Amino acid sequence: MAVPGEGPTNSKIMFVGEAPGKEEDLSGRPFVGRSGKFLTELIKKAGLKREACFITSVIKHRPPKNRKPKKEEISICFPYLESQIKLINPKKIVLLGQTAFSAFFPFGKLKDFRGKFVTLRQVQGDKIISRDYFITYHPAAGIRFQKMKKILEKDFKSVLKSL
Ligand code: URA
Repeated sequence: MAVPGEGPTNSKIMFVGEAPGKEEDLSGRPFVGRSGKFLTELIKKAGLKREACFITSVIKHRPPKNRKPKKEEISICFPYLESQIKLINPKKIVLLGQTAFSAFFPFGKLKDFRGKFVTLRQVQGDKIISRDYFITYHPAAGIRFQKMKKILEKDFKSVLKSL
């Protein structure tokens, strides 16, 4: 089923992952499987409640056989994500992993931006809107690699401190 995302519409922070997996597909909720449990733990350890965050992914449906989303799928879903950002207007947007990072920064390398904030300016009606994006690994990487787990913990603390 569709997994549009969840969280308060006035949330100060938004997390953007890649695409729903099996558990998410079954429940219609984002990040409820293994990666989701770890994401929830990272948020909690950094001193925030999951319920206070808006959590979503670039892709709103589970790709067949859990494959990586295709470029055209990302392009189709991106305007929906952009309207979510516009409506919720979070102070910080955390991009989790390569797919989320490349959707916003198609020419950059994640390793050059990880742990950093990048401000993007956009024309919205007659205004110029600035948004702060924070780039880090996907929680799935932290489950697989101890080194990335430590980096994720550090990154989450620094981004949540900035709220
Ligand atoms: N991984 C993601 O990127 N999104 C989800 O909702 C679940 C796992």
